[in-house]
Amino acid sequence: MKKIQAIRGMNDLLPEQSARWQYLEKTVADCVASYGYQEIRFPIVESTDLFKRSIGEVTDIVEKEMYTFDDRNGDSITLRPEGTASCVRACEQHGLLYNQTQRLWYTGPMFRYERPQKGRLRQFHQIGVEAYGMPGPDIDAELLLLTASLWRQMGILDALTLEINSLGSNAARESFKAALVDYLSERKDQLDEDSQRRLDSNPLRILDSKNPDTQKLLDAAPSLSDYLDDESRAHFEQVQRLLTEAGVPFKVNPRLVRGLDYYSKTVFEWVTDKLGAQGTVCAGGRYDGLIEQLGGKPNTAVGFAMGVERLILLLEALDKFPTSLPNAADIYIVAASNDANAAQCAAANMAERVRAELPGCRVVNHCGGGSFKSQLKKADRSGAAFALILGDQELEQAKVLMKPLRGQGEQQLLEQADLVSSLSNALED
Ligand code: ATP
Ligand code: MG
Repeated sequence: MKKIQAIRGMNDLLPEQSARWQYLEKTVADCVASYGYQEIRFPIVESTDLFKRSIGEVTDIVEKEMYTFDDRNGDSITLRPEGTASCVRACEQHGLLYNQTQRLWYTGPMFRYERPQKGRLRQFHQIGVEAYGMPGPDIDAELLLLTASLWRQMGILDALTLEINSLGSNAARESFKAALVDYLSERKDQLDEDSQRRLDSNPLRILDSKNPDTQKLLDAAPSLSDYLDDESRAHFEQVQRLLTEAGVPFKVNPRLVRGLDYYSKTVFEWVTDKLGAQGTVCAGGRYDGLIEQLGGKPNTAVGFAMGVERLILLLEALDKFPTSLPNAADIYIVAASNDANAAQCAAANMAERVRAELPGCRVVNHCGGGSFKSQLKKADRSGAAFALILGDQELEQAKVLMKPLRGQGEQQLLEQADLVSSLSNALED
C-alpha cells in the first residue's frame, strides 16, 4: 500500500530541529516579556470575512493564497494566513481595547497557498507582536528596538538591515496613489502583465515589483514621501530620531509598501541577503484604520510578525545556535537481572525518585530489556552525562553504580540512599 505523505509545503519538525525551535521560541518569549508584552492565543480558523475585510480583497493573500472551505453548516471558514486580524477580532470581542492600552504577542502556524520553496511554505510559523491604543512614534520605535535587541541576543543583528518607510495618512496615500496611477497609465505598455493588472487593483504594490524595467520606470515616478501629510511626516521623523539615539541603524526605503491593505504611517522590514529571494524575516507597521474597519471604535495599532522558518534558516546559515542545546537525557537508567521483573520495579522507582528530587533533570529509564551492553549503547546515544546501573549485585545490596559517560572520572558504587545527593553534585560539576 502506498504510504501517506504530509501535504506539500507543510513540514514535520523532528526532534533534532525542535530543540532549535525551542531555543528560538524561548529567546523571543523572554525578550518580549522583558518589554512587558503578554501572550494572547486565538483559534487557527476564523470566518472568511474577517480576513477579507481586514487584509483587503485585492491582496495576494485574499486573491489566491487562502485555505478557505465550507464547514458542515455551509459557513465559509479560513485557516488563518496571518495573526493581526484575529488578534484585533479577539481583543474587540473581549473588550480589551476599551479605554486601555495593550502590549500583546502570539505565536503559531499560519497557512498560505503559495509555491513551496526555501523559506516559503504553505504551513509556516510566525511570532507576532501587536500594541494597541498608543498613537505616537515612541511605540513604533519600541517595536523596532525590541526586534533589534532580539537579533543582537541571537547574534544575527549584523546580518540584518532595517528598512523603514511612512505610508502617511489614508488621505495622503490616496492622493499619492492617484498621481502614481496617472504617471504609470501613460507608460502602461512598459509595464509587465502583473503590474498592469495591479494598476487597476492595487497600484501601490507596483512599487515593490521585482522587475528591473519596472523599477527603472519608477525612478522618475512621483514619490510617496512628497505626498506625506504634516502629521505623518513629523511622526516618521521622530521614529527615525528615536532609532538614531538608540544606535539602531536603518535605511529609509521610499518604495517599501507592504502587501496588506491595512497599513498607514510607519512600515518596516528586517531583511537579509543570506537567504536568497526570501530575505524578509520580520515585517510590520502601523495600522490605525483596521480596528474601525472591523467594526470597533477607532483606535490606534502597530505590530509586526517574524517568520520562524526564515529565522531558523538564518541562524543555521550563520551557525549561531548555542552549542549546548539540551539532549534528551541527563541520566539514563540501565537495569538487567536474572529477576527481570524485580529489576524493572527498581529501575522505575529510582527514575521516579530522581525526577521528583532533582526537578529539571531529564531521566530516561531504558525500558524494553536487553543486555547491559546494548542498554549502555543506548545510554551513550541518548547524550546523557551518567548511566545508573542496576544489576543483580546492586539490587541485592540496595546499591547503584553511577557511570560517567562523558569522560568525567571513575564510576562509583553508591548506596541507593545517597544517590540523589551524589548525582546532584556530579551534575553540577
Ligand atoms: P513575502 O513578501 O516574503 O511573501 P509577506 O509580505 O507575504 O512576505 P508577511 O505577511 O508580512 O509576509 O509575513 C511576515 C513574515 O512571515 C515574513 O516576513 C516572512 O518572514 C514570513 N512569511 C510570510 N509568508 C511566508 C511563507 N509562505 N513561508 C514562510 N514564511 C513566510
Ligand atoms: Mg507573501
